[in-house]
Amino acid sequence: MNISVVIPLFNEEESLPELAKWIKRVMDANQFSYEIIFVDDGSTDLSWKVIQDLHQGNRQIKGIKFRRNYGKSAALYAGFAATAGDVVITMDADLQDNPEEIPEMYRMVVEDNFDLVSGWKKKRYDPVLSKNIPSKFYNWIARKATGIKIHDFNCGLKAYRSQVVKSIEVYGEMHRYIPILAKWAGFKRIGEKVVKHQERKYGVTKFGIERFIRGPLDLLSVIFISRFSKKPMHFFGVLGSLVFLVGLISTITVGVNKLVALAEQVPAPRVTDTPYFFLALTAMIIGTQLFLAGFIGELVSRNASERNKYLVEDTLE
Ligand code: UDP
Ligand code: MG
Repeated sequence: MNISVVIPLFNEEESLPELAKWIKRVMDANQFSYEIIFVDDGSTDLSWKVIQDLHQGNRQIKGIKFRRNYGKSAALYAGFAATAGDVVITMDADLQDNPEEIPEMYRMVVEDNFDLVSGWKKKRYDPVLSKNIPSKFYNWIARKATGIKIHDFNCGLKAYRSQVVKSIEVYGEMHRYIPILAKWAGFKRIGEKVVKHQERKYGVTKFGIERFIRGPLDLLSVIFISRFSKKPMHFFGVLGSLVFLVGLISTITVGVNKLVALAEQVPAPRVTDTPYFFLALTAMIIGTQLFLAGFIGELVSRNASERNKYLVEDTLE
């Protein structure tokens, strides 16, 4: 099969028939063999009923229904697991992404050998203040932090070589940073295509203000994991040792000062009367804690079940 289209959706009943028809038209015009996998992320409207009806009319349309709303990342993950196509396309269900982009993205994966082609909504039809400006900012940080030169990490419209989606685990709010997950898994050929974008036709956006909290937090974990997950000791261990050393030197200084004062029989204040005593104490404790965090991190990463997964790209036997 050429293409699997994975579409996560949450309460998008009005858009689905139109979207399915549009995708079919594009696929037929290009003579692609395809499947459309709708992943109903716990919709409370009639979305699932609509998908059932679409499936009745066209067996290339498939569905997965979640028991409750688990989030877009989980929906993508479940959809990815079910794909059979050589190239996997993801798109949003709200008709903001344009199916006409599929043939060129498919070509970029198959002929230009990209592992992942990310859409870039260069001209974007979303609220400027709440979406476009923050998004430019996050994309800039993500670009700097990861070295992946794309402009729109979170674009719903993407194309993947099948291997990629089978090798990555999208969880939490990580759907925003899939190109980074792909890069970690060793897929380096990450491309970008400017895509047409439309205003949302039906329904409302499913990502409210909590986006501003979860997005940055996940970006932080992404940066941290990419820098230090394979070597927690390099971060915590070094920092911990340094802080501990500062604490140790200060403690010795405080102690020696006191002893010298005693020996010379000059009046010396109690060590607990100086702030240095407490600073020294705290530094030693924090240093030990950091070092321990690094050590435990090492133990965890040694035990991570996927530490040696996906090492091999190809074999000859
Ligand atoms: N979505 C989902 N689960 C959720 C939230 C959103 O499957 O918990 C889907 C949603 O139905 C849509 C896509 O993810 O197909 C993108 O969501 P939306 O259009 O609301 O995001 P925006 O375009 O406003 O960033
Ligand atoms: Mg949308």
